[in-house]
Amino acid sequence: MDRAPTDFIRDIVARDREINKHGGRVVTRFPPEPNGYLHIGHAKSICLNFGIALENQGVCHLRFDDTNPAKEDVEYVDSIQADVRWLGFDWADKLFYASDYFEQLHDYAVQLIDAGKAYVDSLSADEIRAHRGTLTEPGRNGPYRDRPVEESRRLFAAMRAGEFPEGAHVLRAKIDMASPNINLRDPTIYRIKQVPHHRTGERWCIYPMYDFAHALSDAIEGITHSICTLEFEDHRPLYDWVLDNLPVPCHPQQIEFARLNLTYTVLSKRKLLELVGQGHVSGWDDPRMPTLAGLRRRGYPPEAIRAFCAVIGVAKRDSVVDVAMLEHAVRDDLNRRAPRAMAVLRPLRVVIDNYPEGQVEELAAVNNPEDATMGSRPVPFSRVLYIEQDDFREDPPKQFFRLAPGREVRLRYAYFIRCERVVKDDRTGEVVELHCTYDPATRGGDAPDGRKVKATLHWVSAAHAVPAEVRLYDRLFTVENPGVEKDGVDWRSHLNPSSLEALTGCQLEPSLASAVPGARYQFERHGYFCADSVDSKPGAPVFNRTVGLRDAWAKIEKAGG
Ligand code: ATP
Ligand code: MG
Repeated sequence: MDRAPTDFIRDIVARDREINKHGGRVVTRFPPEPNGYLHIGHAKSICLNFGIALENQGVCHLRFDDTNPAKEDVEYVDSIQADVRWLGFDWADKLFYASDYFEQLHDYAVQLIDAGKAYVDSLSADEIRAHRGTLTEPGRNGPYRDRPVEESRRLFAAMRAGEFPEGAHVLRAKIDMASPNINLRDPTIYRIKQVPHHRTGERWCIYPMYDFAHALSDAIEGITHSICTLEFEDHRPLYDWVLDNLPVPCHPQQIEFARLNLTYTVLSKRKLLELVGQGHVSGWDDPRMPTLAGLRRRGYPPEAIRAFCAVIGVAKRDSVVDVAMLEHAVRDDLNRRAPRAMAVLRPLRVVIDNYPEGQVEELAAVNNPEDATMGSRPVPFSRVLYIEQDDFREDPPKQFFRLAPGREVRLRYAYFIRCERVVKDDRTGEVVELHCTYDPATRGGDAPDGRKVKATLHWVSAAHAVPAEVRLYDRLFTVENPGVEKDGVDWRSHLNPSSLEALTGCQLEPSLASAVPGARYQFERHGYFCADSVDSKPGAPVFNRTVGLRDAWAKIEKAGG
């Protein structure tokens, strides 16, 4: 696979193997909660966990942390598996669910009660909060903390039997209400939830809390390195407390790294869920979403995402990565692999007056100048063509070198043409057609007399062109850090109103008629495009812009005002 990176976590793993810790084994896990689709941030974690396992002849488990049935769904379970596979990773037979351990986790909880290390608390949620203290003040012991073991045991059994409504009781670990670490102030480890579970159905009405279930799931599976994001650093003492106070088969090491943040992007699952639920996007796989499903539909190759994750590396300090880096990785990958094609997005009709009516020539077009083995394809040329409206100016500004009245340009793979006459709509004054002449001696793109032209345009033959819809995507947000709510401004107010421009009536070269859904191309001079996996049909293609090429002219124009 891609080049093996180094970082502080890989250093820890290498050292552990050297001293034969865990018998030299490396077992990692990727533990998503099935309450949403995976996004580019998860890709960082997947590449890290599966990557470290691969590099060390170890295994990486895929484990669903499905302990909160109220928010979870099989749709997410299925999409997560599809996305991890698509990214290029394989968990072999190591697919697990925390819910598979519910019975075992329950038994562990009972053992804690019996050891006097857990108790049923009957305070209300508000009272529990009031007793917890703050960052600067210690918590206070509640009235149920010293409840007899027998009573806690009986109440916990009754909780499981469904005898109480939600919130009536919780089971708490008995650690230290005065601890400077709030996570150790008798954290809740079980709560009542009268909600059926997508896997265990109605069997349970008490569910374990994340910190308890996670540490024990890791131990049950024999995980060696439990890699998670920085916000769990303060939870590590609790992770260790759970494993130190129960007879578990092993004690994995929790290691934290900085999560990925990207400019112009939100990566909070809650916010992504809102974008979908409130119809700001067409779904989890909307090509503007930072989800793996969205990026895939947009045309991002998994190889590019892996390369991006390798480049950004893994660190211990939070930072924000410029989304341009991700786009760069995509261009870099597609530049090497995507076949070129000609597509006219905003067509302007061109008639070559001196080209014989009814004649068609097949010209050879290079499929990829970066890779000679990709060969060439025939492209038909005839008397009536389309070029881009943008490639013509009746009154050209100084630095505009493309077509203009009386001016000569090159048509890619074809001939020089000269603009002789402009046809306008009588009413609107809009340019609707150009009449040109071609120089037959320039076939292939060079003039035998050595005269030069300053621009090369792409084009399609009108009679052979395939009409298509092309969706131009732009960033979903207009500000660099849309997730940060400031001065009471709602984060959704930063949604980019022109993040999608759907162009119909585009004209593509005929080879694109048969583009299979998901196929990626470079449309010359435009960028990289991917046949939409949902809406593209044979004969009626729909393309998504994956990422643009940098457009020098747009920059000049912008700078000049
Ligand atoms: P939430 O947004 O609800 O807190 P989450 O994004 O942490 O959830 P999980 O399903 O718990 O979602 O994530 C699975 C794994 O992916 C966790 O180990 C988590 O640390 C990691 N992960 C999530 N977001 C990122 C991110 N932005 N960068 C790196 N890793 C991430
Ligand atoms: Mg999480």
